[in-house]
Amino acid sequence: MKLSIQILSTDFDGTLHSDFENPPVPSALERRIKDLQSRGVTWVINTGRDLSSLTEALGRARLSIWPDYVVSVEREIYRRTGSHYVGLKDWNERCRIAHDEVFLLLRQDLPQIVDWVQSRFDARVYEDTYSPFCLTAQSNTDADLIHDYLNEYCDQVPNLTVVRNDVYARFSHSSYNKGSALAEIGRLLGISREHIVAAGDHLNDLPMLSIDYARWLIAPSNAVEAVKEAVRRQQGYVSHQPHGHGLADGLERVLGLSLV
Ligand SMILES: [Mg+2]
Repeated sequence: MKLSIQILSTDFDGTLHSDFENPPVPSALERRIKDLQSRGVTWVINTGRDLSSLTEALGRARLSIWPDYVVSVEREIYRRTGSHYVGLKDWNERCRIAHDEVFLLLRQDLPQIVDWVQSRFDARVYEDTYSPFCLTAQSNTDADLIHDYLNEYCDQVPNLTVVRNDVYARFSHSSYNKGSALAEIGRLLGISREHIVAAGDHLNDLPMLSIDYARWLIAPSNAVEAVKEAVRRQQGYVSHQPHGHGLADGLERVLGLSLV
């Protein structure tokens, strides 16, 4: 039977892969994705990790499968060509310029923001290649409070947003996220949201866990409450199983419903 699914977009940490399990990607899930790829489905890993961190983790997991596309740092797109991942020049360049512009507006207020955080919380604040403000909080409670403060600041700066994943957060341009990057891959491949599955577990997945971008939404049982609520609200599937087991369970359900 013909598959209705043409793109599978999976978050990595906590959704496809778990450091707490051995193997970190369940064998049944690996087999399922391999089967989908052999039937023409494009597999995208849509992650907050940068490309080198992701490929290292994939190598350590000893997987026999590789994603056809990677969205890294929730915004840059890479396509697999042979054994390499090659950046999509147009998108990545537009993304870089947009971030340079929005970060320029932010620069003058940075010392004040850093001071606000560091005077109240035992949190690590640093700059990296992808954002002039990155945060690692001691707990999710601290991260929630800092996140609220950063969101208030974002209200004053056009196109600025906070990307949050567990105790990590950073500033980003609001037009570039897991959802818009997934839409760009769909556009390039000529595939509409009707044929797209998206799966994720944390706040940084919310932009792609939207029926604007994917018809089929999946969350594993370890997903944070806001993600479970968003997925349920849009008639997606929240598994009772964690991590890759939950993703595999969700895929079986979607495949059962989507055969045409
Ligand atoms: Mg995750």
